[in-house]
Amino acid sequence: MTDPAEAARRTLDLTSVVKSVGLEDLYQDLHRHPELAFQEHRTAGLLAERLRTAGYAVTSRVGRTGVVGVLENGEGPVVWLRGDMDALPVAETTGLPYASTVDGVMHACGHDVHVTWLAGAAQALAATRDAWSGTLVVIGQPAEEGGGGAAAMVADGLHDRFPRPDAVFGQHVAPGPAGLYSHTPGLIMSAADDVHITVPGVGGHGSRPEATVDPVVAGAHIVTRLQTVVSREVAAAESVVLTVGEFHAGRRPNIIPPEARLALNLRTQSPKVRERVLAAIRRIVEGECLAAGCPAPAEVTMDAGYPATVNDASLDEQIAAVHREVFGAQAVFDFGPAMGSEDFSLLVPAGVPYDFWFVTSTPAEVWQAAPGDELGEKLDAVPSNHSPLFAPDLSVLVPGVQALAAAALSQFA
Ligand code: ZN
Ligand code: ZN
Repeated sequence: MTDPAEAARRTLDLTSVVKSVGLEDLYQDLHRHPELAFQEHRTAGLLAERLRTAGYAVTSRVGRTGVVGVLENGEGPVVWLRGDMDALPVAETTGLPYASTVDGVMHACGHDVHVTWLAGAAQALAATRDAWSGTLVVIGQPAEEGGGGAAAMVADGLHDRFPRPDAVFGQHVAPGPAGLYSHTPGLIMSAADDVHITVPGVGGHGSRPEATVDPVVAGAHIVTRLQTVVSREVAAAESVVLTVGEFHAGRRPNIIPPEARLALNLRTQSPKVRERVLAAIRRIVEGECLAAGCPAPAEVTMDAGYPATVNDASLDEQIAAVHREVFGAQAVFDFGPAMGSEDFSLLVPAGVPYDFWFVTSTPAEVWQAAPGDELGEKLDAVPSNHSPLFAPDLSVLVPGVQALAAAALSQFA
């Protein structure tokens, strides 16, 4: 580990290289050609090609479409840099000249920016390898968007086939006036769980409800009653979001269907609260089915969720200090934990410290035109991640590479 001023000096030294590696072309190319989870073949290919050209030993198809590049550069710490690569099933409406050319698919979460940052940092650090010593491992992760890409890479031997890290870093684009770095020394992102519920009824004719058990009405009660979990069972100081995002039942107005299927998404920030809320969900579903007279108990199943992302506090403070040196003290702040979730922490071997931060990317003119005077009001008004209008500013490409490279350089000998 070097001191922040030295890491910043090394970072500024590689800036001319960062500017020379064609980041805008790569970014616009990726943005035009988004690929859904585990289909990132073209994206992975572009990243692998840049890594190979820069001198990395590249392994492709780690966890289906993942890419790992290793640059051994003498004695010193091992640093992992991670970027996710997948796009979303969102139809882009930005009208940008480099908008998506794939129907109904868009880089609406900015993972194209992440791949660009990763490639740029990898190239710049390789080109300036005389200035540092250690081992750099660059990871292009597939399927962050609910697909379990990190878990797939770990299952495919990520922890055994590549040098074990001393520190792992990642960063994510976020709404906010372009060029700020949000560092939180501890919990920065929430845990996410999906819960699937099947409510069994007894189907029949819409004119004879007395001969049926209507799962639509039971399901509606479940949805309504679930709204009391956060408001009545969780302390005011805790942060929890429970959203029922799916409700499927029936095909005709005059047929009472035999079952209803619901799915909800849960965001929590502590294991204790998570357990309490999951127990409440089970209890409410069971109780409403009993009240409705369902012919069998409801089925409640959970997907393997994403855990909370909890930064190593002292590592985060170190990296924040380096970022203050590189970008100025006014550019680094702590916006506190987000309700969003990531599988970044699942990539990290147990016991290894990691740091994850946000880089704000709303273009200045969009930010200025947004209604409101307060940061919060404007944040609600500008396009956010997953919006069909999400369009990170090109001005964040070079500094985002610097931010990632600075983190690596702060660890290397
Ligand atoms: Zn996302
Ligand atoms: Zn994302």
